[in-house]
Amino acid sequence: SKALELNDIEKIYKRGEPGEVAVLRGAELTLEAGEVVALVAPSGAGKSTLLHIAGLLDTPDAGQVVVGGQDVTGASDRQRTRVRRGDLGFVYQFHHLLPEFTAIENVVLPQLANGVSARDAKARAEKLLDHMGLSGRMTHRPAALSGGEQQRVAIARALANGPKVLLADEPTGNLDPGTSERVFNALMDLVRETGLAALIATHNPELAGKMDRTVTLSDGLLR
Ligand code: ADP
Ligand code: ADP
Repeated sequence: SKALELNDIEKIYKRGEPGEVAVLRGAELTLEAGEVVALVAPSGAGKSTLLHIAGLLDTPDAGQVVVGGQDVTGASDRQRTRVRRGDLGFVYQFHHLLPEFTAIENVVLPQLANGVSARDAKARAEKLLDHMGLSGRMTHRPAALSGGEQQRVAIARALANGPKVLLADEPTGNLDPGTSERVFNALMDLVRETGLAALIATHNPELAGKMDRTVTLSDGLLR
């Protein structure tokens, strides 16, 4: 089954104005369930725009976005928020963890927002953090964790609500090469185990090589 479909996506900034930028001009992408795809794009090619559209933060000017078989192209803000919370997970280059909360609280909170009971949320958070190799770090606040550990918590948080699709923008881009590889491997293990699909932007060919395939974004097209 298909986890994510981007059909004929068009995005033009400043349409009809002097500084018009056609960033996406018919971009197509299908992620099958369980498929992990590397997104490679030179700076300015529209990677952020594409991830924002796939993540329902932005809407395309034309084309269709389908998440887990559900067409969300014309969906209400409320519906999009529900799909964002339940079916999509996000990891960024910088962790964006809540600094005043512990690692486990950072993984529990999105579940509470999604209607999960405190008890179930805690159990799931412990399991995810354990999978990410953080069983001894659950009650640490982000500032007391290393960069690699912070990203591991961010990955556990992204998977907290059992998404169908993980969207990641340079998830290990701010880590040194060794840490980056270890964190990426932990991410891949968890993704494979959960069977979710992932679109992972990276500039690192070695990491791209560990994924199922690579798509490049250039001239407004994915290929
Ligand atoms: P990337 O993430 O690949 O660097 P972006 O998606 O951020 O690329 O941007 C792609 C192009 O669109 C760039 O030329 C950028 O300047 C332009 N752009 C992005 N957002 C806007 C906006 N809100 N208004 C006008 N131009 C924009
Ligand atoms: P990783 O490879 O996971 O990024 P590091 O090699 O950077 O880990 O860090 C090794 C250990 O040092 C970690 O277990 C981490 O808890 C600890 N550590 C790193 N930075 C800090 C910090 N600012 N405060 C407390 N402990 C830290």
